[in-house]
Amino acid sequence: MQPDLRPPFRGLSYHQLPALLENLPTPCYLLDERRLVENGELLAGLQERTGCQILLAQKAFANFGLYPLLAPYLAGTEASGLFEARLGSEEMPGKEVHVFCAAYREEEMGELLNYADHIVFNSLNQLRRWGPLAKEAGKSLGLRLNPEFSTQEGYAIYDPCGEGSRLGVTLASWEAEGGPELLPLLEGFHFHTLCEQDSPDLERTLAAFLEKFGPFLPSLRWLNLGGGHHITRLNYDLPRLERILEGLKERYPALTIYLEPGEAWALEAGYLVTRVLDLTRNGSVHNAILDASAACHMPDVLEMPYRPPLYAAGEAQEKAYTYRLGGPTCLAGDIIGDYSFERPLKVGQPLIFGDMAIYTTCKNNTFNGMPLPSIILLRRDGQLQTLKSFGYEDFKGRLG
Ligand SMILES: *Cc1c(COP(=O)(O)O)cnc(C)c1O
Repeated sequence: MQPDLRPPFRGLSYHQLPALLENLPTPCYLLDERRLVENGELLAGLQERTGCQILLAQKAFANFGLYPLLAPYLAGTEASGLFEARLGSEEMPGKEVHVFCAAYREEEMGELLNYADHIVFNSLNQLRRWGPLAKEAGKSLGLRLNPEFSTQEGYAIYDPCGEGSRLGVTLASWEAEGGPELLPLLEGFHFHTLCEQDSPDLERTLAAFLEKFGPFLPSLRWLNLGGGHHITRLNYDLPRLERILEGLKERYPALTIYLEPGEAWALEAGYLVTRVLDLTRNGSVHNAILDASAACHMPDVLEMPYRPPLYAAGEAQEKAYTYRLGGPTCLAGDIIGDYSFERPLKVGQPLIFGDMAIYTTCKNNTFNGMPLPSIILLRRDGQLQTLKSFGYEDFKGRLG
């Protein structure tokens, strides 16, 4: 048997690929149960060794049909607002529900208190406004802080420490707006500054954070280090993360440390399978039009932007036949990227994009009336199980 494939296709093996591609309806998201379990086991081991608590940030991955699979590995879920908090509360029974929202709505607050046990506020205004009510309801309250320490270049859209950022309270605001006097309301601090990053970036960020806000930590019960930790990536520096967590435990023994990654739970645990619908040419550019759309089905390709990995394809011009892969929509910029192949593409040929479990099924849309891809599980026993398929009603139902 051939060895398994390399990242981000490491969940698959050469021998199963052709049959898989042959049998799948397209477009579809194929979720990889074996890889989800591998990620879960790695994160569970980290919690056991260090005593930290790891939450699933549902904005990255919220296929709740798989929550029972993930539940044994995690401490709870993290939500970006009322609906995700409710989903976590309903579908991960018995687990913690944390919520952070840049601003809470008046009409949602009462209901939110039914679902969330940890509520993180983004400003001292919001803490003043809702804190007493939430505390009365027995909630553990936190405040998101901004350590003003950027560690990412290139993707400003994912940098909450950028100039003028609305996310998190700066030290200047904490002091000017009377932060210390609100400490009796608070049980925790929260910061989230990373995106697909490794532990050295966390280490530097944490040092900057502690320099600013460390003096207030002894009166608290928890510290949440946010998400963006790419812990399940093959070359992630896990020993360093463990040292960081050990160091925090020594320095602040009373604090529970939370991490709330999204991506790391489902990293390289899904694929988007699509087919070539047409091949056209404009001057030197060979276009291949697929039944999957960047704009609709992999929105981060345009939003981040990035060029997703495609199985058996090279960089433009690297192999003999180069194509520009694009979606079937009317958007000129609905382009996934330029890729090269050993042989010319054919109409009807399946293609498989990697690392498509995250920020896809929970972020796609029906722009242009595009159908949503089915969500199919590749089970550990090799069987395929359709978790959800979509139709016209899913498009129409949101419009009136
Ligand atoms: C986006 C986000 C996360 C998860 O980030 P990943 O990059 O998916 O790990 C966690 N916490 C907060 C506050 C976030 O905004």
